[in-house]
Amino acid sequence: MRLRRDLAVPLLLLCACAHPAPTGPAPAATVAAITAQDLRQRLFTFAADSMLGRETGTIGNVKGTDYIAAEFRRLGLEPAGDNGTYFQTVPLVTRAVDDASTITAGSSTLTAWKDFAPFVIDSTRSLAGVHAVYGGSLTDSTTWIAPQEMAGRIVVLSVPPDQRQYLAFGILTQLPRFAGAVAVAAGELHLFPQGMMGQTKAGDVVVRGPASKSPFQLVLSPAATTALLGGPIGSLSRGALGPALSGNVVVRADPLPAPARNVVAILPGSDPRLKGEYVALGAHNDHLGLAPHPVDHDSLRAFNRVIRPRGADSPERRATPAEQATIRAALDSLRRLHPPRPDSVYNGADDDGSGTVALLEIAEAAARTPQRPRRSLLFVSHTGEEEGVFGSSYFVEHSTVPRDSIVAQLNMDMIGRGDAADVPGGGPSYLQVIGSRRLSTELGDLAAQVNTEGKHGFRFDYSLDAPGDPEQVYCRSDHTEYARFGIPIIFVTTDLHEDYHQVTDEPEYIDYVKLARVAGLVDDLALRVANLDHRVVVDHPKPDPNAPCRQ
Ligand SMILES: [Zn+2]
Repeated sequence: MRLRRDLAVPLLLLCACAHPAPTGPAPAATVAAITAQDLRQRLFTFAADSMLGRETGTIGNVKGTDYIAAEFRRLGLEPAGDNGTYFQTVPLVTRAVDDASTITAGSSTLTAWKDFAPFVIDSTRSLAGVHAVYGGSLTDSTTWIAPQEMAGRIVVLSVPPDQRQYLAFGILTQLPRFAGAVAVAAGELHLFPQGMMGQTKAGDVVVRGPASKSPFQLVLSPAATTALLGGPIGSLSRGALGPALSGNVVVRADPLPAPARNVVAILPGSDPRLKGEYVALGAHNDHLGLAPHPVDHDSLRAFNRVIRPRGADSPERRATPAEQATIRAALDSLRRLHPPRPDSVYNGADDDGSGTVALLEIAEAAARTPQRPRRSLLFVSHTGEEEGVFGSSYFVEHSTVPRDSIVAQLNMDMIGRGDAADVPGGGPSYLQVIGSRRLSTELGDLAAQVNTEGKHGFRFDYSLDAPGDPEQVYCRSDHTEYARFGIPIIFVTTDLHEDYHQVTDEPEYIDYVKLARVAGLVDDLALRVANLDHRVVVDHPKPDPNAPCRQ
């Protein structure tokens, strides 16, 4: 599951391994039924330290996806990725502004990051012959110059003295009023948070795509503002033009060290009339890679149990003296079991090793049952979920089966925990069911019915599905990309816990009996939907696919 947007941290690429060869572990014997033993065996392979945290675009993710593809092949599923393979490669690049970018204004040559910082820019822009124009006050839209005065220019806005703090004005670049501008600029560069500057310099991971024509954002030093406008901003009238500029803002797009791959396979349906429709099942194959520094596993876990019960989702804070004593006692008891264990691998056993091995077990159960479902089953293991649901977003936009033939998507992300120590109210029957009636009441009802009739024994908890819920869990995993195009979804999860996005998310802490039960429920539901005599009914309005996700 993705980190909440307000807690997002920059992507760190820690493995510089180029052109990795396939090195996944060899498949091992498993039985046809979904069993705790098989899930355990698979997860100790898939979430092993040797998978290096499976970070998107690194050799670890290549190893993990090799394992998934080898299993799909062994089970006899049809490949449904690119060019007859199981893989769909997502063309991710790291996009960043090159340090060599300069803008020349009169006799001044301005340097990127020292005199100006460009934001929301997706391709190299030549500034040859472009003029800056004084466009009014940043905080007062009644002072802004007309769109025709902005066209083809860098619109420099003044900042009232009492507003000179952190300037989040990137939103202006999206207003229709500024659409014709080359860039929207304002000061004060020296007030910009250094951490955010570092993140911006390091660049973003994005899907390689066509350049947009929309304006970019420039944060300027006071000297750069004066140079661009040809005089102190306070002395100018609105609409005043600066000198003709030269120079370029250069944007690089560097490929990631290793390919980022979805793994896609089909179990063909048995009904010639319905086999062209698909019930999609999904989980994500990526996680967070390696930590920059090893930490003591047991210390971290003892600390998080008390201070950060939802792992990376809980704010960091200092322990009180009483809490320190509790942590110390927990650590002392762990020390009696092990010596200190340095740990730097984000194993992602629950996130989302659990969903991945469930996907494989469901595939195995379906492939080894002589009675095939009427509709086809589509297994999609997504990459790039943690960095921004890149794999699922790319899959729905470049789906390898017709998108409208996907009748429903069932997403499993973090489904191996949820006991009383993990979540208040947790236990064997605890399961969060999210999004199940947002597009199709029938799909949500079927899930509840399958749980009861199949005696799966879960008590569906819909609290994380509540509209506006501050945790935003509905918007934090791959199913939203399917829902965006009006495909009914169900997201099941056993919720966050102390090991969420921590190096302590290890296979030894997974409840395999429960994981087998969740996989069994999803398997049963997938078959029920695949065998319906009608396509599951969408009775709620489809969203605008370009609108942001709403919890
Ligand atoms: Zn995650």
